[in-house]
Amino acid sequence: MRIGVPTEIKSGERRVGLTPESAAELVAHGHEVLIQSGAGDGIGAADDDYVEGGATIAPDAKTVFGESTMIIKVKEPQAEERAMLTADHVLFTYLHLAPDPDQTADLVASGATCIAYETIVDRDGRLPLLAPMSQVAGRLSVQAGAHALEVSQGGAGVLLGGVPGVAPARTVVIGGGVVGVNAIEMANGLGSEVTVLDRDLGVLERLARRFGPSLRTVYSTGASLQAEVLSADLVIGAVLVTGARAPKLVTAELVSQMRPGSVLVDVAIDQGGCFETSRATTHAEPTYLVDGVVHYCVANMPGAVPRTSSFALNNATLPYAIRLADHGFREVLTKDPLIAHGLNVHRGMVTEPSVARDLGYDY
Ligand code: NAD
Repeated sequence: MRIGVPTEIKSGERRVGLTPESAAELVAHGHEVLIQSGAGDGIGAADDDYVEGGATIAPDAKTVFGESTMIIKVKEPQAEERAMLTADHVLFTYLHLAPDPDQTADLVASGATCIAYETIVDRDGRLPLLAPMSQVAGRLSVQAGAHALEVSQGGAGVLLGGVPGVAPARTVVIGGGVVGVNAIEMANGLGSEVTVLDRDLGVLERLARRFGPSLRTVYSTGASLQAEVLSADLVIGAVLVTGARAPKLVTAELVSQMRPGSVLVDVAIDQGGCFETSRATTHAEPTYLVDGVVHYCVANMPGAVPRTSSFALNNATLPYAIRLADHGFREVLTKDPLIAHGLNVHRGMVTEPSVARDLGYDY
């Protein structure tokens, strides 16, 4: 199969769909790999690094899309990329369709087979291709939040860990999944006082066992969430209802009652955001203020550390890419219902139930 990797063009995005090592692995499996010139620049991988492993360099995205069957990317295709997709393509990338009707309509119109990293599941019902980026985003959310608490960023001028004699800041993590646990580790490590809310008791039990008394665990209800948010310096939104739009757990009214200079980091912004006042921001302008509360809502947080992120992502995606290339998507999706969960759009139909429900498509 010929596999194409275009340069990512979303604002601030410097990750790449295949590292040189992954490209070489696919070549070793007998496939042709076409890399857009410069696609690896953001992670310090030169065209020659890809050529060394047997890949071919294409001058532009048009050539990559025009001459490849499977397109491997990182972020959802942008409008100009969607215009190059046809019914002959298999697109393998993050899509996050539920909050994105325009992208969904374009993918449906293209007739392409679109497999989303974020809805493939494993035997335990976890999301193995979302997990590596959730690890990165969870860790980054605390760095971003700590920076936003500085006065120059509009924050209250609070040091997350405090110092001896001065109390640390309070961090509240909403959602104790992969993002949440990584945020907790970092916030704990920096000496913040950390609370996690989740509505899954099993999750809270696991976290309580793992972190012991250094973590407060609170069952998430409207009332408990309100009380925790109002007493927080830093709130990290890390909830997920697979495939669906994120629930709006913090209302605009609640934000207006928060202390000015406190910080909201909405990691769930790629699913529409879990704070009512959230709107997606970019690495170029990551924050804005609402009622004096700093909002950080970057939809592609791992793009800030493209090297770590691309290698972490490839560690997870490569086995799937090899299977799809070796056996063809039809055989793989028919025989493996776990990968079939990743199929979001196929031949003009939305095939992911949550996306179809949220955006009003027949399913
Ligand atoms: P996960 O499934 O591992 O964890 C989500 C947790 O949210 C679960 O424990 C679930 O019980 C909990 N939850 C659901 N509804 C809740 C509610 N009402 N109250 C409290 N908890 C609730 O998911 P994850 O991998 O940690 O991802 C979390 C979010 O981060 C997703 O929206 C994901 O798309 C997003 N994400 C964003 C970026 C970014 O760059 N912005 C990067 C990676 C992941």
